[in-house]
Amino acid sequence: MKKILVTGSLGQIGSELVGKLREVYGTDEVIATDIRRDESNIACTGGPFEILDVTDPKMMAEIVQKHNPDTLIHLAALLSAVAEAKPQLAWTINMGGLVNALELAREKNLHFFTPSSIGAFGPSTPKVNTPQDTLQRPATMYGVTKVSGELLCDYYFKKYGVDTRGVRFPGLISNVALPGGGTTDYAVDIYYEALKNHSYTSFIQEGTYMDMMYMPDALNAIIQLMEADPARLIHRNAFNISAMSFAPEHVAAEIKKHIPDFTMHYNVDPVRQAIADSWPDSIDVTSAREEWGFKADYDLAKMTTDMLEKLRIKLNIKD
Ligand code: NAD
Repeated sequence: MKKILVTGSLGQIGSELVGKLREVYGTDEVIATDIRRDESNIACTGGPFEILDVTDPKMMAEIVQKHNPDTLIHLAALLSAVAEAKPQLAWTINMGGLVNALELAREKNLHFFTPSSIGAFGPSTPKVNTPQDTLQRPATMYGVTKVSGELLCDYYFKKYGVDTRGVRFPGLISNVALPGGGTTDYAVDIYYEALKNHSYTSFIQEGTYMDMMYMPDALNAIIQLMEADPARLIHRNAFNISAMSFAPEHVAAEIKKHIPDFTMHYNVDPVRQAIADSWPDSIDVTSAREEWGFKADYDLAKMTTDMLEKLRIKLNIKD
């Protein structure tokens, strides 16, 4: 990667990825884009930024023409809970945007990255140690767009030789931008509420295991996969990656070690619980490890310590 254009840059991932890419590849070599502007977001103000609606192929082509990147990192999408509330719009943005981005990658010979998700699995997928290659019949519109996207990225590689690469992200936990309406958002919200109110009401039921990862590991994974020797890649897209698998009570127990009077309550949201129940408990990351050396540094304990430390400063909480 030398010059990188990022779509959906002001979301949970982009807000941190753009900064990290600018550190590694140079400020002017990373063009952040999003459908909206946000002057409080460093991805918007810390270097080149363009307004880009990914459903508009002409606009995307003009911006690529103007900046001439060699890599396109396509993040713009609606997340699981939002996509379930607006399924038609989710199809338009998630699939329409992806087709536009892939077409540009084909025409301009760009290296291409887009994330899939554990949401690409469904109720009939093996739930424990979910294999890299397995049954995928997702029951949500988010899942439908993600599994279609995985197939389409494979197709563009096989048919046109486009250098498509991607991972299936688990729930991502970060202390910079708030999550954009996913099923695993509770695992971010809980840290804010623990610090502010010493209490959290989870919309996901006790005992519901899902895969998770701390944002620094997610950013490293993107860069590592994009820089990996293509000769080693047996898969190209949708690598299973994860750092930990836990249920809400496990985060609560970890937080209690730092905030002893923290209490956990449950008020389950049936929509997001149904989505969570259709996803794996834990996924197998062997292919990512073997083909490009994936490794996560943060487990639940290390992540909790870091989250609380960073958020205490961000929220200006002294006790
Ligand atoms: P997010 O919802 O936080 O951010 C998405 C960004 O896309 C927003 O800034 C939004 O303004 C922008 N956007 C929406 N519609 C757009 C359009 N038409 N044109 C251009 N931009 C538009 O999402 P995120 O968490 O940063 O996720 C990025 C990608 O990673 C998505 O493909 C998502 O499915 C995937 N992913 C995320 C997670 C996670 O836990 N965050 C997990 C698995 C996969």
